Amino acid sequence: MGVTRFDLIVVGLGAMGSAAAAHAASRGRRVLGVEQFQPAHDQGSSHGRSRVIRLAYFEHPAYVPLLRRSYELWRRLEAATGRDLLQITGGLMIGSPDTAVVSGSVRSAREHQLDHELLDAAELHRRFPAFTPRLETVALYEHEAGSLAPEEAIRAHLDVAADNGAQLHFDERVDDWRVLPSGTIEVRTSRARYAAEKLILAPGAWAGALFKLAWLPLAVEPQQLHWFLPHGGAAAFHRDRFPIFIWDLGSGTQFYGFPADDQERVKVAFFRSKVTGEDAIREALRPCLPALANGELIETVSCKYTLTPDRHFVIGPHPDWPNVTIASPCSGHGYKFASVIGEILADLAIDGTTRHPIDLFDPRRFRDSPS
Ligand SMILES: Cc1cc2nc3c(=O)[nH]c(=O)nc-3n(C[C@H](O)[C@H](O)[C@H](O)COP(=O)(O)OP(=O)(O)OC[C@H]3O[C@@H](n4cnc5c(N)ncnc54)[C@H](O)[C@@H]3O)c2cc1C
Repeated sequence: MGVTRFDLIVVGLGAMGSAAAAHAASRGRRVLGVEQFQPAHDQGSSHGRSRVIRLAYFEHPAYVPLLRRSYELWRRLEAATGRDLLQITGGLMIGSPDTAVVSGSVRSAREHQLDHELLDAAELHRRFPAFTPRLETVALYEHEAGSLAPEEAIRAHLDVAADNGAQLHFDERVDDWRVLPSGTIEVRTSRARYAAEKLILAPGAWAGALFKLAWLPLAVEPQQLHWFLPHGGAAAFHRDRFPIFIWDLGSGTQFYGFPADDQERVKVAFFRSKVTGEDAIREALRPCLPALANGELIETVSCKYTLTPDRHFVIGPHPDWPNVTIASPCSGHGYKFASVIGEILADLAIDGTTRHPIDLFDPRRFRDSPS
């Protein structure tokens, strides 16, 4: 049986792979996308109805230029597909002034001259009454922050890819790939074999098996998302009075949340925290958001983080095979970048280089200085 040939194969059609397929197909390449599950499924890292997007980036100011492009591309994707993907709600980065979230966000906002305000506890509570901060708590309020619709955005990227001629295969698992001596890449799946000039690997939590880089230290961790119905009703949780937020409680505990959705549900999650179980979650919420602590917990969903030791992404040419591009943009904060990362992956696969700053994400940093 003949092997079907493509210019480019994308493995994994989650947040990053769907975006890469859309960008590559839009540039006229013959693209095959292979996904082991259904479009926008709930087994990986990209489900749960909302994702935070913000510009003041406490993790590292180097992310800000990528974020600006990412906002632009999300808006362009909305215009191209007619789907609502990005809602601007404003965003609060809350904590005592010396916490990582507050001090890092202030540094990033100043360095990049982002539109922001600093609020003391009284002002925070006056403008956003659901929050009950302690006296020493402060907040950076950022106007441009908001919420993305992750499943809808994957569907939008898949639509753009398909409209531009990409073949998209679902319920098909990639079992192996190899680079032949000719340089052609052969991909073997649960159904067939394919050949291509270029390969993009965007397998999310399955990267350990597919990257073929034994030294790359990726750890997969399940994380819980919780939806509460606020006690006393959701009036104080609508987005004009309750933007997206991240609250740093110090000693490594951070939690974040979103405005009430159209069914009055408020989503909160603890970032890689030891706070687990319903009682501990209510106790942690009580001093900060009492109406949630006393509300009804209606749903909990698990989602996978894929973490690097330094919490920065892995994006770049495969260190052993330059025709293969690898992407693990997670560490719990990758979704907001999916639109620009799709562009970067298409750049790297098609042109071998990108104008975007991605030095921070070089996979070789873990080979050259193992941590
Ligand atoms: C609880 C939680 C909250 C988060 N909150 C935020 C947030 O607020 N803001 C933010 O920016 N980021 C957030 N993130 C991180 C963000 O969602 C991830 O960085 C992003 O979804 C990763 O996208 P991905 O494409 O790498 O993975 P995925 O979207 O999981 O895609 C990988 C795909 O590859 C497929 N695949 C894997 N192996 C194979 C194979 N062998 N053959 C075929 N297909 C394969 C998988 O089925 C999957 O569909 C959060 C993540 C979680 C879990």
